[in-house]
Amino acid sequence: MSQPVPPQHLVIFGRPGSGKSSLAERLGHDFGFELVRTGEILRKAVRARDSLGLRVESLLARGELVSDALILELLERELQAPALRKFLFDGFPRTMGQVGLLETFESRLEFEIDRYVDIDVSREEAIARMTGRRVCPSCGSTYHTISNPPRLPEVCDLDGTRLQGRKDDALEVVQVRQDLYETHGIPILEHYESRHPERFVRVNGNQPLDEVYRETVRALHLDAASSGPTGSV
Ligand code: AMP
Repeated sequence: MSQPVPPQHLVIFGRPGSGKSSLAERLGHDFGFELVRTGEILRKAVRARDSLGLRVESLLARGELVSDALILELLERELQAPALRKFLFDGFPRTMGQVGLLETFESRLEFEIDRYVDIDVSREEAIARMTGRRVCPSCGSTYHTISNPPRLPEVCDLDGTRLQGRKDDALEVVQVRQDLYETHGIPILEHYESRHPERFVRVNGNQPLDEVYRETVRALHLDAASSGPTGSV
């Protein structure tokens, strides 16, 4: 019996608070996916106070989406010969306009997304989780005070920097981000689920992160693939 072929090019979806970014980090680390994270690229620009950062700072703080044109500009810089690499999109596409952008990138750069993964979490659970989220201002690693705590409280495992809450995790902003996800994100899932049912994977995200991770790895047949340094699950 032939083994299912593990995917090379993934998109991971999930509402804010679904745990998708922690999951993406683990998949990247364990299976060698390069992460393309539009949210992190934008936050890095804000921290650096470069011209992109100054343009998007207030939008990010309010939890609103940046324009599709800006996402295009940012990904043009980020994506080079992706057909040669194993990578994972986290935070893109975020609008139906960006679904079109992704198709353009796929044909122009000659790659194909082989799995769309939805980490499915209820709005209530997501809001509860977001209040415990922490991020390293220096390297961008993400943690959660309950589900994915750093080894030392409030300190980054990788570089020892003091962790911070995200400005966009304040409750009013969290509600805006959930609303935006429901308006823009759900139609994207419906689109891919009906257009590419064979590439669409839904994982129950209302469980502890380790279990979500194991279910994702199984669903993607990554356990059959060659893995990175800590590939066991
Ligand atoms: P994230 O870390 O993916 O939750 O993204 C943080 C913030 O960055 C979002 O609330 C948006 O303001 C912005 N952002 C990230 N990715 C996109 C995208 N693909 N399109 C528009 N805005 C984005």
